[in-house]
Amino acid sequence: MAEVKLVDVEKRYGSFLAVPKQSLTIEEGEFLVLLGPSGCGKTTTMRMIAGLEEITAGDLMIGGERVNDKPPKDRDIAMVFQNYGLYPHMTVAENIGYPLKLRGFNRQAREARVAETAEKVELGKLLKRRPSELSGGQRQRVALARAIVRTPKLFLMDEPLSNLDAKLRVTMRAELKHLHHELGVTTVYVTHDQMEAMTLASRVAVMRKGRIVQLDTPKMIYSEPANLFVASFIGSPPMNLIDGVISQGTFTAPGVNLPVSAADRGNVVLGIRPEELDLVPADGEGPFSGLLYALELTGESTLVTLREGTTVVCARGGADFDAPIGTRCALVPKAGARLHLFDKDSGERV
Ligand code: ATP
Repeated sequence: MAEVKLVDVEKRYGSFLAVPKQSLTIEEGEFLVLLGPSGCGKTTTMRMIAGLEEITAGDLMIGGERVNDKPPKDRDIAMVFQNYGLYPHMTVAENIGYPLKLRGFNRQAREARVAETAEKVELGKLLKRRPSELSGGQRQRVALARAIVRTPKLFLMDEPLSNLDAKLRVTMRAELKHLHHELGVTTVYVTHDQMEAMTLASRVAVMRKGRIVQLDTPKMIYSEPANLFVASFIGSPPMNLIDGVISQGTFTAPGVNLPVSAADRGNVVLGIRPEELDLVPADGEGPFSGLLYALELTGESTLVTLREGTTVVCARGGADFDAPIGTRCALVPKAGARLHLFDKDSGERV
């Protein structure tokens, strides 16, 4: 286990600044998720920690030691990367057991550990195959098994579940969570899947254009997004974000008239999550009103989208809600619903 510290770390590719000067401390035993859209610098940050990418400026500390110049193999890190990096001439069992072999475990100990790990990632029946005889998802699980077969100082995982089908992804997520609970190894995990981030992380670093725009617990990221980018990135369906103005204690926008306890201002964005809105029974009135635009049954609920001019609002209604498209409907915030206000120009929370 180890603390990882980035101090003013920067990465340039030629003249392109992929990761501007950034500092971040990943606590010992923490499960830190780097979350953000494609190209935001997650992988670059991770590869710098792994030692696979040279750091242009700044210091990288692992367990109190400056490791900028230490080769990857000496950092005691186990990694899962997007391109798997499996050895094509080795069987699944040999691939998984390779880190143990390098560290001098005898055959018997290796076989037992490999069998146990392979079971965890549901590969028990494929141990004799070679990577070329596996599907993408199976290869990804071999890479995952090879990383978790031993207990390193640090786990680095870059989208380790991206090629699995939805069901297996959920199973593996639970495995990873359990593994972290069991071993308590410091883990840095890269994903663009907000659900993965929310369920696995002890803290989430939301990244945008190379910068961390919020670093907090999943709970805080969800309930107190620091800016419009985080607000729109977390939650499914995402938070409703409505452009309007506040005047005399009321937020107004097309179809919206909602009391708020905030000072007058123009150019403001109101945020409210779909799960915090209730449908008003037929013909009733509410602070949000619009024509029914779409109904999407998800199984346990129905996503109800209303439109009025430029305003689009989505609410989560009961599974049995039904009405013709075009019907006028109204919504009301649930008791205790959280209203978020953002400055439209800066995107920051107000
Ligand atoms: P993804 O989710 O798509 O993998 P990411 O958030 O991991 O994206 P990075 O791979 O870290 O993003 O890339 C960050 C930025 O750096 C991108 O704009 C990318 O084009 C650029 N970049 C990455 N590697 C190189 C390279 N070797 N040379 C030049 N630019 C690069």
